[in-house]
Amino acid sequence: MNAAFGAAEVPERLAGLVAQAAGPVIFTTSFGLEDQVLTHLIATARLPVSIVTLDTGRLFPEVYALWQETEERYRLLIRPYYPRHEAAELYVRQNGINGFYASRDARKSCCDIRKVEPLGRALAGADLWLTGLRADQSTARGDVRLAEADVGRGLLKASPLLDWTRERTLAFAEQNGVPINPLHAQGFVSIGCQPCTRAIRPGEPERAGRWWWEDDAAKECGLHLGPDGKLERSKSVPEQVNA
Ligand code: SF4
Repeated sequence: MNAAFGAAEVPERLAGLVAQAAGPVIFTTSFGLEDQVLTHLIATARLPVSIVTLDTGRLFPEVYALWQETEERYRLLIRPYYPRHEAAELYVRQNGINGFYASRDARKSCCDIRKVEPLGRALAGADLWLTGLRADQSTARGDVRLAEADVGRGLLKASPLLDWTRERTLAFAEQNGVPINPLHAQGFVSIGCQPCTRAIRPGEPERAGRWWWEDDAAKECGLHLGPDGKLERSKSVPEQVNA
């Protein structure tokens, strides 16, 4: 797939990846800029892709508004996956409503309950998982390939926008009237759960606003694993991204 579609334009690349899939194709959106562009491409080309999202229960109000706007604009329904309520209730009972600030382990446990476990259900039975990852979002994502095996989940993961810059992605969205989150214009570049996301300052890496209290260059929630099924770690200080 990398050889066949790597040089293609993104719409053809996306269609080619989907056509090659041997089973169900799932696209997980968190309504970020890249995800909105992919939703636009999937919807306008009427590709046979199921669009799903992980509603952690801690998202920004703007995300829910964009969710509805996106469904209305493209006349589609996005399938939500929620945390197991027993696990979420136990976590809050034991750690408090914002217990994820207390330690890295507490944070990862919350992400496991609210994101990783629901993602496993969302991807069950999928052959191809489409994501909005771009390689220059962080050094931890610098090794992202167009298509790669997710051994841990037993499927193929593809990132059709991997070689687009943020500027190019934004320009596409603007030229095509793709609805995007108004928080992007306020410095929220990578948007996750509300209590774990802040706006970034000029010159900061794109993902500096995620779990900013953790001193770790490879801040991920566990959704994107390396080829060996383990969370990939950055080996260097993040490169500065022009804001
Ligand atoms: S991003 Fe924060 S609130 Fe969301 S699941 Fe992870 S720790 Fe919990």
